[in-house]
Amino acid sequence: MNDILTVSQFHDAIAGRRCQLLEFTSSIVSTPSLSGEEGDVAQLVIAELKRLDFDDVWTDEVGNIVGKINGGAGPAVMLNGHMDVVDPGPSDPWPHPPYSGAIVDGELWGRGSVDMKGPVAAMIYGAATYKQLRIQPRGDILMTVAVMEEIGGLGSQFLVQQLKKDGINPGLAIVGEPSNSQLRLGHRGRIELQVKFSGRSAHASAPHLGVNPHYAAAKFLNALDQLPLLNDSVLGPATIAPTLYETDQVSANVIPSEVTVFLDWRNVPQESPKHAVAELEAVLDNCLVDKPNCQTEVCVTSQERQTWTGVGREFASVFPAFATEPKSPLAVCAGEVISESTQKPASPSVWEFATDGGHIALAQIPVVGFGPGDDRLAHTNQERISVNELQQAAGTYAALIDRLAKAQIQARSASE
Ligand SMILES: [Zn+2]
Repeated sequence: MNDILTVSQFHDAIAGRRCQLLEFTSSIVSTPSLSGEEGDVAQLVIAELKRLDFDDVWTDEVGNIVGKINGGAGPAVMLNGHMDVVDPGPSDPWPHPPYSGAIVDGELWGRGSVDMKGPVAAMIYGAATYKQLRIQPRGDILMTVAVMEEIGGLGSQFLVQQLKKDGINPGLAIVGEPSNSQLRLGHRGRIELQVKFSGRSAHASAPHLGVNPHYAAAKFLNALDQLPLLNDSVLGPATIAPTLYETDQVSANVIPSEVTVFLDWRNVPQESPKHAVAELEAVLDNCLVDKPNCQTEVCVTSQERQTWTGVGREFASVFPAFATEPKSPLAVCAGEVISESTQKPASPSVWEFATDGGHIALAQIPVVGFGPGDDRLAHTNQERISVNELQQAAGTYAALIDRLAKAQIQARSASE
C-alpha cells in the first residue's frame, strides 16, 4: 500500500498556509479561555474548522468541539487537544502580555501558546491538508478540541463516551500536548486523595479534654514512606506526595476536631483509584491502632463544575495513567514519521505530567503523543512557541494521520 503523499509534500502544503496558521494561532492565544470559560475560543475554533472545509463540525453537550473529515474505510484517526488554559497570574513578569499572541523573533508568545493552543492549531491545519489537496484520508479524521483538561479532563472523558454512543470508534488517537516535537508514549496518572482525621475539639489549655487529630495525621504522614509503590517498565516508579493540609479551626488556641491531608498520587497503570484507597486504609489501620478515639476516612476528591455550555457536572480528580508499548507497530511507525519529518531522532519517552491521553486510552483507543513546543514552558510566564516548529508540526501531523492509519491496517491484516 503506497503512502498518500510524501512527508515533504505535506510540508509544502502547510508552507502555503503559514500566514493563516500563525494568524489563527495568535487569535486563539489572545482569547482567554480558563476552564469552564472556553466559549469564545470555541467559537473561533468552530469558525476555522468550517472555513477550512471540514465536512462536519459539532459541539457536544459539555462544549467539546469535533471537526470531521470524511475518509475511506480505514481506521478513524482522532486528533486530540484542549482549549482551556491555566490562569496567567500577574501580567508584570510576562515579557509580552499573556494574551497578546505577539510574534517576536520567530516565537509566538502568550498563555496557551505551548499548552496547547499552538499544538491545536497545528493539528487543525495538519488535518485540513487533506481538504486543501483534495485527497481522501484512509479513514475519517476526527479533530477533537476538548474543554476542562486543566482541571481533570471532564471534556475528553465525556467525549470518548459520547463518540462511542454515537457509533464512532476511532482506531487510534494522537494527543498533541507539547513534546518538543518528539514521540511521547504515555505518562503516570494522577489521583488526588484526601484523608480526614476526626478527633474532639478542646481548649488548647486543656489538651487532655480533647482528642487532637494532628498526632494521628503526623503518624500517618511518617508511615507513608513505607508504602509499597509499584514500578512500571515504561513509566517508572509511582510517587506519592502530601500537598495541602487543612484544619477546621482558624484560631491557634483551639485543638481542632478535624484535619484533612491532601495527597497527590502519581500512579502507574496497575494502580487504580480503588487500589490507592485500599493501600492508604491499610497504612491508617497500622498506624492508628492506639488512637481509638480518632476516626479516619480516605476518599478520592471530586469537584463540581459548570461547562461553558451551562452543564453542571461532578467528576473525580483522576487522570488515568497510560503506556503505549514502544515496540507496537503504532509507536514504531510514529517514531519513523517524526524523525523523517523533523530530521531528528524521535527520542521516545513519556510526559512528566498527566494528559487527556489517559482518558482516551482507558476507552481502549491506542494513543501516541506528539506536539510542538517546549513542555517546560507550560504554565509559566515565559510561555512561547517557535513558529517554525509550529509549522513543521502541522506537516508532521498530516503525515502521521496517513502513516499511522496505514500501520494499523497492516497490523490488522498481519494478525488475521
Ligand atoms: Zn495541556
